[in-house]
Amino acid sequence: MIHRLRSIAAHGVAILTAVSLALLPTSATAARSEKAHLPIVRDAEIEGLVADYARPLLKAAGLSRSGIDIVLVNSPDFNAFVLGRRIFVNTGAITATDTPNQLIGILAHEIGHLAGNHQQRLRDQIERAQTIAIVAGLLGAGIAAAGAASGTRGAAQAGTGLIAGGAAAAHRGLLSYQRGEEATADRAAITYLDRSGQSGKGLVQTFDILARNNLFASSRAGSYLSSHPMPQDRRAAIEEAAKRSPYYGRTDPAELVERHNLARAKIAAYNGGMSDVRRLFARDPRSIGALYGDAIATFLAGSTASALRKIDALIASRPKNPWFEEMRGEILLEAGRGSEAAAAFGRAAKLDGSNSGLLKAEIGQALVTTGDPSQMERAIDLIRAGLRVDPSNSVAYRFLAMAYGRTGDIGRAELASAEGYWQAGAFRQAKIFAARAQQKLKPGSPPWRQAQDIITTKIR
Ligand SMILES: [Zn+2]
Repeated sequence: MIHRLRSIAAHGVAILTAVSLALLPTSATAARSEKAHLPIVRDAEIEGLVADYARPLLKAAGLSRSGIDIVLVNSPDFNAFVLGRRIFVNTGAITATDTPNQLIGILAHEIGHLAGNHQQRLRDQIERAQTIAIVAGLLGAGIAAAGAASGTRGAAQAGTGLIAGGAAAAHRGLLSYQRGEEATADRAAITYLDRSGQSGKGLVQTFDILARNNLFASSRAGSYLSSHPMPQDRRAAIEEAAKRSPYYGRTDPAELVERHNLARAKIAAYNGGMSDVRRLFARDPRSIGALYGDAIATFLAGSTASALRKIDALIASRPKNPWFEEMRGEILLEAGRGSEAAAAFGRAAKLDGSNSGLLKAEIGQALVTTGDPSQMERAIDLIRAGLRVDPSNSVAYRFLAMAYGRTGDIGRAELASAEGYWQAGAFRQAKIFAARAQQKLKPGSPPWRQAQDIITTKIR
């Protein structure tokens, strides 16, 4: 019923994209990209892996307790970026990296931007450059003063250039400023890798991956290259610094390599089916990653019995892996076997060391699909437990509303819908459902007051 990597992509969140920050586009494209909906995906296995990659780096950067979130974006483009307190990682960056260390290198670089607060500074810089460009358009020459007035080197360069080239020069000034920040983030990355006892080799290798991919890909907006200008000397500088570390030769633990390949297999299966899985594991078609991708692609192609046989074989070979159990639950759920699915999700949650709220909620969600009224109270408790860990799981609210609906508690069902809309950023819908909920809830009761909060909270 739910193909997570696909269905949740429909719930994209509206945020300013990094592309609009990085490229200084014309005002028309800026407006468009600011409204762009990023296809956010939720997946406990992949989120847990990337969080494990980021943890020692955040610690090395002194950001352990800063509440940094990792968000997966369902896009085949090789990209990662930071916005606010979030690190966005494209699924394409995960599949394109051959080793954990390569993705860890990218994360280290992005955490370098976070720690240096580059995002805000870049935004200020863009505003200045845009102002200069507008002034240049209005007044033509005689504008060198604008660069000087802004008091920064990048903008000053842009200001002088404007006499000749107007807006194009502002763009160049910004790019040179941005290159400076890239170098700073690279140096920070090497420092964090070194402090956490990891090699910078992967970061160097990503340059080669990008160069290789760029030969085939058209220059799509959103690609890592377009937001990360890469002169040759940048690669050389990273390599030199990385080689100075005593950890340069250190390789990834086998267990991490396996998890990396399982995550890549899952992304390939959901986004490209069997052919993508085969292409990704062409050199190692009997590896556990290849088998996992094969099982998921078989499931998505609708062959329940065959998919179950394949996932059962994987569970037998790795009985401690929570995600094989979770996938078994997915297959059973799709086949309409809700209580068996709930049992599989329950086993997965017991094995899961990351305490994923998504996974906890899934147990309850599976029980809701049984339609059995005697299961609804348990389903509600389980979904609530998941939401306590992960309140942004908007899918879980839908199931919560269904569960309340089946128990005849329409007031709470509508309140759950209101909460779900609120979490998804659909504030107007949230207020409509909260108002409907209030008509059925006891005035002054805790759920009534919760509905009241949604109604009275002001939206920007
Ligand atoms: Zn960067």
